[in-house]
Amino acid sequence: MYKPLDRSTRQIRVLEIPLTADPSQPFQCRLSTVSLDNKPVYEALSYCRSPPSHPTTIIIDGNKMHIGTNLFLALERLRDTKATRTIWIDDLCIDQRNASEVAHQMSLMRDIYRHASEVIIWLGSPSLFEGTWEIIEELRPQELLPTIDWGSICEATPDELYGPENYHVDDSDAFTLGFKTACLLARDIHLTSLPHLPKNPNPDHPNPWPTACTALLNILTRSYWTRAWIIQDVVLPLRDPPVWFGRHRVPFSVLVAAGRNLAGHSHGYHGSCCVGWGYEGDGLGVGAGAEGTDLEIGRLLREFAAVRDLAGLRGRMNGKGEGKGIGLAEVLLTSCKRIPDRGATDPRDQVYGVLGLVEGSGGMVPDYSLAVAEVYAQAVFRMVTEAGSLESLALAESQRHEGFNLPSWVPDWTGTSCLQPAPYPWQLYGAYLGYHEITTSSACELRDGSTVLKVRGVVIDSVKRIGSPMVSEHQPVEELLSRLAEWRRVMQDDGESLVANSPDNYDFGFEVSDPLSSPSTNEVFWRIILGDALLTPNDQADPYAESSGGSISGRRLGPEDLPAVAGWWTWLIDIAKNMAPSQGEGWGGLKKYVPSEYRDVFYSFCEHTRSRLFFVTEARRYGMGVSISKDPAFGSEDVVTEVQPGDLVCLLEGSRLPVVLRRHLDTQSTQPVYSYIGTCYLHGAMDGEAAPRVGSGDVGDQVDFNIGDFADRNPGKRPTESSRVSTTFQHGRQSKKSRGIA
Ligand SMILES: [Zn+2]
Repeated sequence: MYKPLDRSTRQIRVLEIPLTADPSQPFQCRLSTVSLDNKPVYEALSYCRSPPSHPTTIIIDGNKMHIGTNLFLALERLRDTKATRTIWIDDLCIDQRNASEVAHQMSLMRDIYRHASEVIIWLGSPSLFEGTWEIIEELRPQELLPTIDWGSICEATPDELYGPENYHVDDSDAFTLGFKTACLLARDIHLTSLPHLPKNPNPDHPNPWPTACTALLNILTRSYWTRAWIIQDVVLPLRDPPVWFGRHRVPFSVLVAAGRNLAGHSHGYHGSCCVGWGYEGDGLGVGAGAEGTDLEIGRLLREFAAVRDLAGLRGRMNGKGEGKGIGLAEVLLTSCKRIPDRGATDPRDQVYGVLGLVEGSGGMVPDYSLAVAEVYAQAVFRMVTEAGSLESLALAESQRHEGFNLPSWVPDWTGTSCLQPAPYPWQLYGAYLGYHEITTSSACELRDGSTVLKVRGVVIDSVKRIGSPMVSEHQPVEELLSRLAEWRRVMQDDGESLVANSPDNYDFGFEVSDPLSSPSTNEVFWRIILGDALLTPNDQADPYAESSGGSISGRRLGPEDLPAVAGWWTWLIDIAKNMAPSQGEGWGGLKKYVPSEYRDVFYSFCEHTRSRLFFVTEARRYGMGVSISKDPAFGSEDVVTEVQPGDLVCLLEGSRLPVVLRRHLDTQSTQPVYSYIGTCYLHGAMDGEAAPRVGSGDVGDQVDFNIGDFADRNPGKRPTESSRVSTTFQHGRQSKKSRGIA
């Protein structure tokens, strides 16, 4: 039934759905061939494929075709129209059995979506249970009701939109109530004026907010939003795409505005009008409103994030660049924030599904013969070459999906955990003078057909001894204090007393000294712990603002910041002393009591110590390196990646931070091979002090590092505390004799 397409004129097929008088009759559709060069008029459908377990039959050009329930419901709804519809639907318009045609049509995807007169976002139907993709029988009649166009209803006044007669709703109207609420929120109405919220209760009827809220949450958490391919479907269209959910149709921009205004009013980005309303406590959890009603504003705000992030990419795509494309880094960092629907999404689609948004496709061509590890390696390599910087490698310093066998330097783009850029603001440091950017293409190469990254740099030091990893924020404050005391003793090089625990001795606060005299050891200790920088939390920034790039703002620690560092430590010890043991809710909880003058110090401390440990090098430098466990929130014993004695501290071309690498002797080759452990803070080397002098001919020590992946990157179970410290010491001493610095 599929005739070959002429690729030279960019032909595509479109499906024509004629007006059918009798909806009980099966679909009779036909395919026609058009050329994108001739500016054809068609709509495009974006939806998520449902498994073929409950196929329905339609007829295309006289041939029977089995399609999934979700697509069938979409077609049934879309033929509720006055005229024939011409729609591009990937599953039906591309011959899915013809791999070469699929590849060619995928390369046209960007033009197909950009030239469509409208891209229809089909979220599914309230009648479709996404667990099994079966139609819920009792709701079936809803499918036959006429379409509600919320775009035009939005223009009505709030009273018309939400008259008092609508206070009472039954369950079958839940989604109507949800969309009404979205329209009201999109109109920038005060939460305190929402007619159906409990501040303004109608005593005759139950409060409809929980129903409205549940319906909105249902709309925002449909499977559709989790699919990799939908990102470009939503971002590419020139016109505001309509979002369909069963018989409801609402402009995408209305959902975005609803989320923006909900955030604005409840968080005070627009002023303090509705701040704190509906909240109890910190605003992160579920708030309990008046009359004990569960308002769930916090959860709604979180679920609106997917829509918000897509809107942000839409703005970038259709903004000043006139659709030229967005950087691969920005697209991938947005897409991997979404929790993918495993089993429904090919992990390679996390990258391939967004290439249509990237200028020149980022130089990548989808190739499903490659392993996930190769695709993910290519993506991060592209980001590195795009930026001329190794900063993206820091994204690999997080948990990663074990099944993919990702090389040590490759982040997991499925977003197994939230990927964070380098923990230290990149621009504040410059450890490798003259080589902050990659100077030549030969300095950083992806070995052909492999997952080995070749980078150029120098070894400046090696790790001699490590402290225990940072305790999680759920641990009592006493655990935090004793961990810091242990690190302080590691710094003191006091091998014997290290094992003995002396929890009362936290006497490493410091007097702020004259800036002209050399700093006390305690001051140096705190500079190391804080990465010698003070960060400013941007949690008060409006996440919907155009400029909220999400990057951490900060500065290097100056003399003016030291009183706050010393004061914070004194404050923390006082709190710990005066706290009853039963109050040990976890030291992270103390953040809400911190005096405002210490707030930035506390924030910086958390950012710079999370999943990190303190270490000492052979050259008696001190630093902070990664220690990532499987579940950092709860301090799991299973180590994913951790700095170990013997690891090398290197300066790599394109990296502003020193990087810890582990050297392996490969029996197959005479070349040493390395695994990437992570970026580190190394005191006294962050501003180029340890870099070979440029122009002095002193760069002869530069070597090529082949960074790949090796089984012993993962040291396995973490030893218990006491054995850890003593084995660490022995290890350190042995390595001094046998290994030296490579
Ligand atoms: Zn307000």
